[in-house]
Amino acid sequence: MSGAPVVLDGRAVAREVRAKAAAEAATLTRPPGLATILVGDDLASAVYVRNKRRECVAAGMLDLHRHLPASAGQAEVAAVVDELAADPEVTGILLQLPLPAHLDPVALIERIPPHKDVDGLTSASAGRLALGRPGLRPCTPSGVLALLDAYGHDLSGAEAVVVGRSELVGRPMAALLLERDATVTICHSRTRDLPAVCRRADLLVVAAGRPGLIRADAVRPGATVIDVGIHRHPDGLRGDVDFPSVSRVAGVISPVPGGVGPMTIAMLLANTVAAAHLT
Ligand code: NAD
Repeated sequence: MSGAPVVLDGRAVAREVRAKAAAEAATLTRPPGLATILVGDDLASAVYVRNKRRECVAAGMLDLHRHLPASAGQAEVAAVVDELAADPEVTGILLQLPLPAHLDPVALIERIPPHKDVDGLTSASAGRLALGRPGLRPCTPSGVLALLDAYGHDLSGAEAVVVGRSELVGRPMAALLLERDATVTICHSRTRDLPAVCRRADLLVVAAGRPGLIRADAVRPGATVIDVGIHRHPDGLRGDVDFPSVSRVAGVISPVPGGVGPMTIAMLLANTVAAAHLT
């Protein structure tokens, strides 16, 4: 396809989503409270949690963070989740993953009540999404939808291909697209001829965790390509999409950085405000 693609500006859309969440939070009689839980001192997790807390305060919400030592046992972390679950000041609970290896993340996530599950990761939230019922949705895939919505993207009847089937991104992404009446195909590490399946897509969402996996040969001319991948390179962040080659074919593309990344925290704030109505 000739001509430069539309490059989606996740930073600008995220700013709008954050501003809307802040405005909505200000109308509530009690400010929403976000309880992030960080276990241990993993550097990347500490940075993610710090950013979430900062944005939460900037949006006029309460920062009810808990930090536990890496040595904390399953029962100790479970007790903290239970305490936050019972605390009326806490509208949202976010257990930062990954946890130290000796802890069972699934058992701990399941202790979060669905109405405080702002990460949308409990089986109750996933079940509601799978059944098309209202509930809190995982932040990254709902951020992809919000980004597409901001640009007026029509999903009804579109051929959508999602690369990746993780609980965090791929599966909920596919369910959200189905909810919007797209025709959805999910690809994964066992998919035969990935480029051929991807070429069917009007909308290609890539969340495989493989840098540069998607090249121009996997993209239909004019398609919309959303890159969820994040990889650290010495010269900056990269995605799962080979931006230089794909941007010569795609009609619309999300960059890394500045695409889906900023949307995730913005959607966390939106979910925390939504959860305040449920508590
Ligand atoms: P994951 O490793 O849990 O899942 C990856 C999925 O991709 C798996 O289902 C696997 O089957 C599939 N896959 C792997 N290699 C493949 C291949 N060669 N062909 C087809 N499918 C393949 O990862 P995840 O948690 O879903 O994250 C995916 C990427 O998104 C990572 O780079 C992660 O850092 C990034 N991420 C970004 C955000 C954000 O805020 N932007 C949030 C979460 C994850």
